[in-house]
Amino acid sequence: MHFRRSLALSVVALLGAVAARRSPEDVEVLLRGGTIIDGTGAPPRVADLAIRGDRIVFLGDASKASLAPKRSIDVRGLVVAPGFIDPHTHTQGDLGSPDKRERANLAYLMQGVTTVITNNDGGGKLEIGKTLDAWTKNGIGTNAALYVPQGSVRGAVLGMSDVAPTAAQLDSMRSLVRRGMEEGAIGMSTGLYYAPGSYSPTEEVIELAKVASRFGGIYDTHMRDESSYTIGLIGAVNETIRIGREAKLPVHISHIKALGTDVWGQSDTVIALMRAARAQGVDITASQYPYDASGTSVGASLLPRWAEVGGRDSLRARIADGPTRARLTKEMELNLKRRGGPASLLISSTRDTSILGRTLDQVAAARHESPIDAALQIVQQGDASVASFNMNEKDIEKFMVQDFIMTCSDGSAGHPRKYGTFPRLLREYVFTKHVLTLPQAIHRSSALTAATLRLPERGTLAVGNFADVIVFDTATVADRATYREPTLLAVGMRYVLVNGTLAIDGGKFTGAMAGRALRRAIVTH
Ligand SMILES: [Zn+2]
Repeated sequence: MHFRRSLALSVVALLGAVAARRSPEDVEVLLRGGTIIDGTGAPPRVADLAIRGDRIVFLGDASKASLAPKRSIDVRGLVVAPGFIDPHTHTQGDLGSPDKRERANLAYLMQGVTTVITNNDGGGKLEIGKTLDAWTKNGIGTNAALYVPQGSVRGAVLGMSDVAPTAAQLDSMRSLVRRGMEEGAIGMSTGLYYAPGSYSPTEEVIELAKVASRFGGIYDTHMRDESSYTIGLIGAVNETIRIGREAKLPVHISHIKALGTDVWGQSDTVIALMRAARAQGVDITASQYPYDASGTSVGASLLPRWAEVGGRDSLRARIADGPTRARLTKEMELNLKRRGGPASLLISSTRDTSILGRTLDQVAAARHESPIDAALQIVQQGDASVASFNMNEKDIEKFMVQDFIMTCSDGSAGHPRKYGTFPRLLREYVFTKHVLTLPQAIHRSSALTAATLRLPERGTLAVGNFADVIVFDTATVADRATYREPTLLAVGMRYVLVNGTLAIDGGKFTGAMAGRALRRAIVTH
């Protein structure tokens, strides 16, 4: 396959060279003299890159070719790389917004991200075809693709009840997954930590993953446990491997981490398990964001899942009932300990501005109540997003250097990762701490992700590929978003081209809505 493709490309190049001798070849954009880091992990080299239509049509020494560019840009001293691909975002709202500025997906474009995946964690709309069509019709700033969200599938059939499905209910769920896959989803996502996905037994998940498998889809998971809540981090990794083995499809662990002191140091075991599974033929990979805080809500981080069975009203009734509240409080205290205590939870997004930017510790002290009572009150008033400081730098770096672990943002309200992930990886882990080389960091943010998600003709700079291309300055590329100011746009991206169109030109958004709705590639097996 690889051989045949390179043979085909050299024939194209040969024909191109013959044509070039006759007359200058029209190209739209020529990037001259940049330092090419092509996404494969190969070392940097200086070369020119030309784009016509939505494709890269030339990569080499333009002085030896005969090119007639409409626009020629001097990019000497700058890095030219494939646009970054983010396998885990929460951009459904942005991309579906009536507001063009939100659909432009600037939070990502300014980081050099040209493709985002969404409907992760098992959540989001089930209407895959309709969503993809709306993106095409209304215009979006980056490319985007969707998962069929398993939590929504279960919710549609079983609501918030903690029961195993009947054969007929399982069939209904299968047909919802099938419909999503037929409409172009790239696979199925789960959020087995969250209700209602948490109520799904492993066997049910396997049955649904088999449907995605038949369509050549992949399985993406926010695992049942990243800590020591239920089956433990190691148990959850084993569950993911089992799903991959029995449903016969690639499995991808989203935002891999060792959450909380109970499991710090378990990165070694997790990596060993993944390596062993890979050696046995299970295609298991993971993504990671370069921050030591996760982003979640007060409820999701502290409430035990039994408290959420039946939905909001049932939760309220449990909180109001003395003995149930006592049991709830006890379990929440344990969960708070897992999270590192009340000073480790920073309220990052909420309607109640009086608690914004404060830790749960500070909120409780100001109200003269216990952290759990304060948390229960927040949950009852509609909940709040938190940045949860729960990771250890050693685990982060051990995961980061694995050649099957790639970059994701998991961007969400109230966490700087939505605006900063990719430049932060470069600034912090390439230029400051030297954990990765620049070609490695670019590889794990582009080609590795494209291969894992089965996105053809993207992720590397190669003739014939879609022209998702970024140009940045290594001296200035940086994230600016912080936990206190999480929506500051990143800096340093000089040019960002999406499908051959300049979306960022000279560091500024051009207004172009050049993104495409990406449908699962047709597979035949
Ligand atoms: Zn998640």
